[in-house]
Amino acid sequence: MIELQQVTKRFGNTLAADAIDLRINQGEFCVLVGTSGCGKSTTLRMINRLIPHSSGLLTIEGQEISQLDEQQLRRRIGYAIQSTGLFPHWPVARNISLVPRLLGWSEARVTERVEELLELLNLPYAEFAHKYPSELSGGQAQRVGVARALAGDPDILLMDEPFGALDPITRETLQNELLRIQRKIHKTLVFVTHDMDEALKLASQIVVMDQGKIIQQASPAELLLNP
Ligand code: ADP
Ligand code: ADP
Repeated sequence: MIELQQVTKRFGNTLAADAIDLRINQGEFCVLVGTSGCGKSTTLRMINRLIPHSSGLLTIEGQEISQLDEQQLRRRIGYAIQSTGLFPHWPVARNISLVPRLLGWSEARVTERVEELLELLNLPYAEFAHKYPSELSGGQAQRVGVARALAGDPDILLMDEPFGALDPITRETLQNELLRIQRKIHKTLVFVTHDMDEALKLASQIVVMDQGKIIQQASPAELLLNP
């Protein structure tokens, strides 16, 4: 479980996150939604410790996030973003295996994991493992980004507008794949988007933000009945 209690983040005079109270249970598909600049990415990045929170309590499975060492954090949390962040001079397989290698997995286990993930993301190993990011379409690169985030078998997967730059058809395909994967592997997902339709489609829990605050929190069904 991820728990934020009165979590605040200040950048100078900007209150990017303002006394956030949020509980995300194991297996939940939580979507943070709201207009640009409302604090979604900041909230996500605090859960990842990419940025430290200014005040409040942020715990993962009961442990304050500042107390976790880097290895524990990497093992528990995967992260995928819109720009994918793939290393351009590394082939797909090497990109995906980054975290397992850092975690010290054996070469055989790493290879097995890469094969398994490429299959899960509908990217045949023989065709894709040795391609470079520049040889991939936008949708394929996003799949590799998701595979890389899942590679270390984290309990939690954080995704920041991962499908934001894709055409509508590829986007819908990847949304459906993500739902299928979520049902299969039961990770806790925290997903950021500015698109309410995407939130309604994917989420089990929708968190609406505005000016650094949570202004609504509901299931998609509750939100549709009571917008
Ligand atoms: P969203 O993801 O909802 O678009 P962000 O979390 O990126 O919003 O940003 C929330 C607010 O915090 C914005 O006003 C943004 O300009 C500000 N902000 C975000 N990151 C930084 C930073 N590193 N330094 C200064 N201000 C920032
Ligand atoms: P996103 O909405 O996905 O967070 P942004 O373009 O807002 O993307 O942010 C990109 C990067 O710039 C992030 O590292 C963020 O922390 C930083 N950033 C965002 N707003 C500001 C700001 N006002 N001042 C300085 N850095 C910022």
